Amino acid sequence: MKNDFVNLILSMLFPNRCPYCKKIIQYGMTECEDCLQELYGTPRKTVTSAGIPCIAPFAYQAKVRDSLIDFKFRGNAFNARSYAKAVCHAIEYYELLDNFDIITFVPLSKERRHERGFDQSELTAKYVGELLHKQSKALLQKTRQNKNQHDLNLSERIMNVKGVYAAVNTEFIKNRNILLMDDIATTGNTLAECCRILKENGAGNIICAAIAISGAV
Ligand SMILES: [Zn+2]
Repeated sequence: MKNDFVNLILSMLFPNRCPYCKKIIQYGMTECEDCLQELYGTPRKTVTSAGIPCIAPFAYQAKVRDSLIDFKFRGNAFNARSYAKAVCHAIEYYELLDNFDIITFVPLSKERRHERGFDQSELTAKYVGELLHKQSKALLQKTRQNKNQHDLNLSERIMNVKGVYAAVNTEFIKNRNILLMDDIATTGNTLAECCRILKENGAGNIICAAIAISGAV
């Protein structure tokens, strides 16, 4: 009760804005009604280079892209609530709710996480877990900072992700069906490499989910 009151005062002093159009939204809302209507169409579904299905509620374009740039580079962590809700919508749309029992994410390196103050995929995975009443847990770590995938061509991208990730908490990987989350899926090489490591450590089925899919994955 006390927390609700504090949150209400805070929301009056620092109102939340819709992640997509920046309009001020009411306390308790995660996006405005107009954007909800506009953006919740048919979620996207594709297959990563490793042959693993990947779903996302959005295409990486227009106001979704702007909101993701705010989220990743301007510290707008509030957006994660809306993204998590949208990812759950995509999971329900494709009836995948029973296909996994644990949620994990493609992690940032320690240095990048420290720079940003939070790991955007970790935060989104945590909220998806809360909404679906499923456990979310770090099962991978990024052992070194690599080049940004966006700056590389296709063959460079495949090499750039090799040996960058390692498994952690392996007792939660073996024989578990996993939802692996990333923020933006581009060529799917990062997701494919993370899937390879999870499989190597005994994972059962894996499904990938991103907030947005960019181009052909
Ligand atoms: Zn809006």
